[in-house]
Amino acid sequence: MRIVNVEMGTAAYPADECERLVRFAGEGLPGGSVRVVVRGRPYGITGKAPGRRDGSVPRVEIRLGAKSTVRCPIVPTAPSLKERLPSVRCRDWRDAFIWVVAHELRHVWQLDSPPCCRSCSEEDAEVWALRSLNRWRRSAGRLAVPM
Ligand SMILES: [Zn+2]
Repeated sequence: MRIVNVEMGTAAYPADECERLVRFAGEGLPGGSVRVVVRGRPYGITGKAPGRRDGSVPRVEIRLGAKSTVRCPIVPTAPSLKERLPSVRCRDWRDAFIWVVAHELRHVWQLDSPPCCRSCSEEDAEVWALRSLNRWRRSAGRLAVPM
């Protein structure tokens, strides 16, 4: 997957580090180009991957709140995963950012995949996000989350 650009709509986080983390989260994903927009919000972290508009480059939007509020535990949302995947306690905003960006980039990849993959999109995205987070933690010399 080729990250075309990372647009920063918030000054609360370092742009160069966010771009580096976005590119890390996209590593290993096949597929075309994608744009990532990072905006602010009052608290917490959210992401979405709106569908592709006619011929345009797909866009992922991440909303980051105050740094002290983005370390919340990540709990699997897909019912089929609640007993299979652990909740993840984020060590810092980077953990949460990697997890959410990887999750949304996987959704972009799913949109270009065969229909078989779309039916399991949340489960697939959450497993992918956890693998990406573990890859990030290992690269930083930290313990990975058991899967
Ligand atoms: Zn999702």
